Amino acid sequence: ALTTGIVGLPNVGKSTLFNAITQAGAESANYPFCTIDPNVGIVEVPDYRLNKLTELVEPQKTVPTAFEFTDIAGIVEGASKGEGLGNKFLSHIRQVDAISHVVRCFEDENITHVSGSVDPIRDIQVINLELILADMETVEKRIGRVEKMAKQKDKDAMAEFEVLDKFREAFENEMPARSVELSTEQIKIAKGLHLLTWKPVLYVANVSEDEILDADQNPYVAKVKDFALTEGSEVIVVCAKIESEIAELEGEEKEEFLNDLGIEESGLDQLIKAAYSLLGLETYFTAGKQEVRAWTIRKGTKAPQAAGVIHTDFERGFIRAEVVSFDDLITAGTMSVAKENGKVRLEGKEYIVQDGDVIHFRFNV
Ligand code: GDP
Repeated sequence: ALTTGIVGLPNVGKSTLFNAITQAGAESANYPFCTIDPNVGIVEVPDYRLNKLTELVEPQKTVPTAFEFTDIAGIVEGASKGEGLGNKFLSHIRQVDAISHVVRCFEDENITHVSGSVDPIRDIQVINLELILADMETVEKRIGRVEKMAKQKDKDAMAEFEVLDKFREAFENEMPARSVELSTEQIKIAKGLHLLTWKPVLYVANVSEDEILDADQNPYVAKVKDFALTEGSEVIVVCAKIESEIAELEGEEKEEFLNDLGIEESGLDQLIKAAYSLLGLETYFTAGKQEVRAWTIRKGTKAPQAAGVIHTDFERGFIRAEVVSFDDLITAGTMSVAKENGKVRLEGKEYIVQDGDVIHFRFNV
């Protein structure tokens, strides 16, 4: 399964946030495919469409879709030189598909900052630099291999060398691989290099309890946003402490608490949604009397493979899919009206499932 790794320097609020994630806890019985590991937190993806479908269909049970966050501990300066838990840290990052990078934007005299003061940009750069140095090593090794062939006008080698050279230049300027502009062809080459700084990043600005409502006033947050812009990354603002309190609540209690605080959507819910889309994930639905359920696919997945997420038999015996978009179904009001209006399509093996599709699969057993 695709996963997002949570990284950050010590004392920035990582564990507090990760605890909120595990507290909010998805019922793992619903998600047998998820990893059972203390460093992995399973989160359910909040989706208003699932609530709407539940109102419409009135099923016995509603099941959201879920995905994983992995807690990656142990970053220290010098990781790229194998110091401390350095190597382990880098190999953990290698295994995740996206990164949520928590940075401290709250002042608190009682909580020591590893570098003595609050400075989120310096913190970001400490971690990014370790990853950049590790990538530089990868790129230089690769250059050593292809440079000669490129000089002999080998086409593939020349194309790869061009990409490697762009990355080398970015790294020399302490910029991550993801900040480099590439053509579609070059992106394919870049993916094959498995660079750490190619992975998409979401910066999570952790602000104090009294700043969560007007986080825009927090100068640290503004700096993080400016920085993120330079590499095309996103920023989410949370207060980890409040999130850990919210995570203990459910349903009405949770809503009341959010209302009292004047918050529309918890930071954790925002983080979950942002991480989900950062991973390139999308949701389709099945809606029957027994169960209304959301399912996760990668963007661009074809109908049989999407069916395979429910059960391998569905993929193997796939005949066709009856598809209606969420919006069309809601406009129609019921499935039979949607059918009468010609909004329910029959799709075959080549159909690329769209985010928000409501699907009934036909298959042979
Ligand atoms: P980690 O080392 O990055 O995992 O950091 P922790 O989650 O252990 O947090 C370090 C300290 O900062 C703990 O004492 C937390 O209670 C505190 N902390 C975390 N988030 C916040 C916050 O939003 N506001 C305040 N005031 N303290 C926080």
